[in-house]
Amino acid sequence: MTDLPAGTCLDRLRRREPCLWINPGWRPAAEALPKLDIGLKDVIDADDRLRRFAPLLADLFPELRGAGGIIESELRPLPKFAARRAEGPLWMKADHALPVAGSIKARGGIYAVLEFAERVALREGALASTRDDYRKLAAPSVRDLFKQYELSVGSTGNLGLSIGVMGSALGFRATVHMSVEAREWKKARLRSRGVRVVEHSCDYTGACVEARRLAALDPKSYFIDDENSRELFLGYSVAALRLRNQLDDAGLTPGPDRPLLLYLPCGVGGAPGGITFGARCVFGDLAHCFFAEPVEAPCMTLGMLTGRHADISVYDIGLNLRTDADGLAVSRPSRFVGELMAPLVSGLFTVTDDELYRDLLSLYEAEGIELEPSACAGFPGPRMLASTPEGRAWIESRGLASSFPNATHILWTTGGSFVPPDQHAEYRRKARR
Ligand SMILES: *Cc1c(COP(=O)(O)O)cnc(C)c1O
Repeated sequence: MTDLPAGTCLDRLRRREPCLWINPGWRPAAEALPKLDIGLKDVIDADDRLRRFAPLLADLFPELRGAGGIIESELRPLPKFAARRAEGPLWMKADHALPVAGSIKARGGIYAVLEFAERVALREGALASTRDDYRKLAAPSVRDLFKQYELSVGSTGNLGLSIGVMGSALGFRATVHMSVEAREWKKARLRSRGVRVVEHSCDYTGACVEARRLAALDPKSYFIDDENSRELFLGYSVAALRLRNQLDDAGLTPGPDRPLLLYLPCGVGGAPGGITFGARCVFGDLAHCFFAEPVEAPCMTLGMLTGRHADISVYDIGLNLRTDADGLAVSRPSRFVGELMAPLVSGLFTVTDDELYRDLLSLYEAEGIELEPSACAGFPGPRMLASTPEGRAWIESRGLASSFPNATHILWTTGGSFVPPDQHAEYRRKARR
């Protein structure tokens, strides 16, 4: 590529050096949101749908009974971890421990399956209306109906886990097309649930191309398209409504004196994008959202800073996805998400695998929490803002100089609780080296 705009951030991406890119297209919520064709009402609609399914999920998954069938994670302080760093109080949104799927994909992936199940059930008369009792969907006759349909998805691992587990719990056939990064234990876990796992020797983008092609040949196959799915995106966005309640309960309601900063690991963009969209709808300009990507896979940073979105890949600038953050190992971003994020996201930054491992080990030593490497990507965020020239200039330009020390910094941890113990031990061994 010879005709890319010159710029320090792009040079640093090429050199695999961590960098913070501040989004020059950011706009106030009152200006940006009315121009989009989705809005807060869609987030609320998605939340309502999850509530309709909650009694059924409480029946299907014993681990959800206590929460009445609502899949949600804790917001928790990290006092001992924060004490090891110089940035003040830190909070964790513990999506690594989301029940049923063990990763942030429990939000988008499971929502997409439920949305499809509801559509089929309403069309085929298994539900009379959206006010019906959704526990009916566990009946053998409905499972037989769902068995006629196949859910198909391309995945680096975690999306396949969430869709495979929820799809098969409802009776759907499920096929997961795994990219070369996918861990063996994730494949084994899916196969043990009766999910068909197709292994590809290409990357995530390639696995999606093949999955999309095969699903198009079969009218009863529904391809859940992580690169373009409005449903996945809206499923993720509901997190903002839940977070608002948790912040209120913790006495951390955002305000002019207490801005909210979210640090979100980014792969293809659906999860951080959906959460950012929800957060800008719910908190307006009090929420400042930053995406984090591995230096080897900064696809969303590259797509946004060049404006080329999915038309450029990290291979084009000489990178090659060599990262242990398998959940983030994506070569091309979602155009759908990138375009929506253009006025909404504050910035993006990149992290090295060494930093991921350092934070993984440090969090374990301080708090006893075990994460997968991808889930640690957001951890350098507060430091990137407070200690780089780009970050300090951003704090000034947003008028946050006086409120920043009182900000609520939330490290969004996205996966790890289903990782087998020996794999966690291996991560720590590697971190110590
Ligand atoms: C999928 C995933 C992400 C990022 O989500 P995208 O929608 O791909 O951007 C982050 N962390 C983990 C552990 C994931 O599995």
